[in-house]
Parts: sequence; structure tokens; C-alpha cells
Amino acid sequence: MGKSAYHDVVNDIEICEKNNGRMNGDTTLVVVSKTFPVDEILPVVNAGARTFGENRVQEAASKWPQIREQFDKIELHLIGPLQSNKAAQAVQLFDVIQTIDREKIAAVIAREMKKQNKSLQLFVQVNTGSEPQKAGVLPENTTEFVRFCREKYGLQISGLMCIPPNNEDPGQHFTLLKRLSEECQCQYLSMGMSADYRLAIEFGATHVRVGSAIFGQRPTNNQ
Ligand SMILES: *Cc1c(COP(=O)(O)O)cnc(C)c1O
Repeated sequence: MGKSAYHDVVNDIEICEKNNGRMNGDTTLVVVSKTFPVDEILPVVNAGARTFGENRVQEAASKWPQIREQFDKIELHLIGPLQSNKAAQAVQLFDVIQTIDREKIAAVIAREMKKQNKSLQLFVQVNTGSEPQKAGVLPENTTEFVRFCREKYGLQISGLMCIPPNNEDPGQHFTLLKRLSEECQCQYLSMGMSADYRLAIEFGATHVRVGSAIFGQRPTNNQ
């Protein structure tokens, strides 16, 4: 795990790109470091990783400022749900927010980016399985929501993100997300995790979010 697992995933992504007629480097590996402490993250940064994902603002705040002091060009992605009272801190800490999914969040993010004079890359999270417990806009509302974010708040939504339901073939969800991204002219597709990132690349992912395949299993109460 750690450094060697990171290299394995990087190699694997390269092979998948080649096998699917994708350009080398087409897919950004977002290393998901949630729940893992700084001393387990540092070897992976040392191995060359620069793009990381965290799902909690508070946790990211406790880990990443010290890592950024030692390393240039870290790109941090928020991949978990965002509450509006954490928006200011999120805009400070992160470079990319992948989980825009409601008007209130779009509004506070727009306001904070202006206030902090900082422009983040933004993705809309889509609940491709229409699961009641899951975050994200419904597929049928996605195009309208993206247009709304762009027109009302001037947000440059550049990608879509999804987390397919646990016990379903992820391929159909990747297909749906790809189709929606074409409809709303979003360049980036964040889909695929440890179990299915190869498949996601086959379906056109530009970002894969890989945690346990690099760091090992997380405690089960911390999905
Ligand atoms: C935890 C998490 C991941 C990483 O999952 P693994 O199966 O450990 O690769 C990816 N995306 C999101 C949104 C996550 O919360």
C-alpha cells in the first residue's frame, strides 16, 4: 500500500488509456486520502501524486495546509457534501469542488469566490441512481441546473461527478453521466473509484477517484 500501490494504479490507468484509444494522461488520478493521516499521505506525495480528494472540509483543514507548505502544485478536490456554513473555508482550502448539487450551495460558492478573489473548478454531482439517501441532482434536472448555475451565478461548471449505486452495474451510470455531460457541455467526467476505475476510463472518465486501492481499507464507519 502507499507508494507502490500508487505506482501500480498510475501504470494501470496508462494501460487502460492505451487500450481504449484514449490519450496518455487524459485521465486525472484523484488520490482519495480521506481518513488517512498526514504521515501516510506524505509517501504518496513523495512518489509524485499531486491531486488529492477529501470528503470533509474540517479534516482537510487539519491535514493539507502543512503538506502544501512542503510541496508545490498540490491540487485538492472536495468530493463530499458541502454545507453552506463551511463554504468560505472550502473555497480557501480546495482547488476543485466536485459536489455542487443545489442552488444554495451554488449561491454561497459564487459569493465566496468573489469575496476571496479565487476561482475554483466546479463540478455538479449527479445522483445517477436517483437514490433518496444520496446527494446530487437528479438526472432529469441536471441540464437545467447546470444552465442555472452558469446563467444566474456566473459559475463555470466544467464537469459532472457521480457515485453509482452499490449493487448495480456501474457501466449504465457512467453512460448516463457521459450523455448528460454532452447535453450540458461539461468537459470533465469524474467517475470510477477503486473497484471500477478501469471501467470508468473505458466509458470516458477524465477523473477517477481512488482511495482504498492506494491506502488500503478504511475503517468501515468511514465510507
Ligand atoms: C471515498 C470516496 C472515494 C474512494 O473510494 P475507494 O473505493 O476507496 O476508492 C471516491 N469517491 C468518493 C466521493 C468518495 O467518498
